[in-house]
Amino acid sequence: MQSAPNVSPSEIARFDQLAARWWDPDGESRPLHDLNPVRAAYVAARVELHGAKVADVGCGGGLLSETLARAGARVTGVDLGERVIETAQLHLHESNLQVDYRVQSSTELAASEAASFDAVCCMELIEHVPDPAALVNDLAAMLKPGGRLFLSTLNRTPAAFGAAIVGAEYVMRLLPRGTHHYAQFLKPSELARLLRRAGLELEDVSGLAYNPLNRKAWLSRITSVNYVLCARKPT
Ligand code: SAH
Repeated sequence: MQSAPNVSPSEIARFDQLAARWWDPDGESRPLHDLNPVRAAYVAARVELHGAKVADVGCGGGLLSETLARAGARVTGVDLGERVIETAQLHLHESNLQVDYRVQSSTELAASEAASFDAVCCMELIEHVPDPAALVNDLAAMLKPGGRLFLSTLNRTPAAFGAAIVGAEYVMRLLPRGTHHYAQFLKPSELARLLRRAGLELEDVSGLAYNPLNRKAWLSRITSVNYVLCARKPT
């Protein structure tokens, strides 16, 4: 692994500790399992996945990477967690899918495969990096002209504080305490500015609603907790 300044090592260590249980739908990745079908459908509604070249940045154990690969995409998944990438690679033996998983930073992937992806996904990562603007620039650099970026994260609102930190980490104990840092949550308007500065055009912002009790997730107009967006690189 080359040096990667836009990373917080304690964050990588936290996710690596969860690696072995990543594919357990009742483990700590449970919210990711529950949100995955909705966000995959969001991507599939906006990109012809069959044959598309797709990057999944901060892919973790590969929940979204596998869903995209199953839909016929040629997926490259990168993450700086060595154990989560090992888990993702091992799981391919169970799923019989092909994904090119690498321990690599977004900056390295952007440099080695500039302007080469039809779609770039970056789900639930940006709230864990020290420099969100640098991450957005890397994601933009990977996209082909006309390609689309999909990004999901948590809004910086009292509702998100209540749901993602108090609710998920303390009350329901779905996530380990310390998983999220409120100050790193981004408002859609702030993310929109970063996207614009990176030369991307925002096409849609949708709320990702989630009921942890019945484990249902759906797209919503309400963006105050989780949201997903789509932005396009102009041709
Ligand atoms: N995108 C996946 C996983 C989200 S969890 C999903 O939504 O299913 C966040 C992931 O980001 C973890 O796997 C963690 O190892 C990774 N990560 C955290 N900081 C990172 C960084 N600076 N660069 C790359 N990956 C990072």
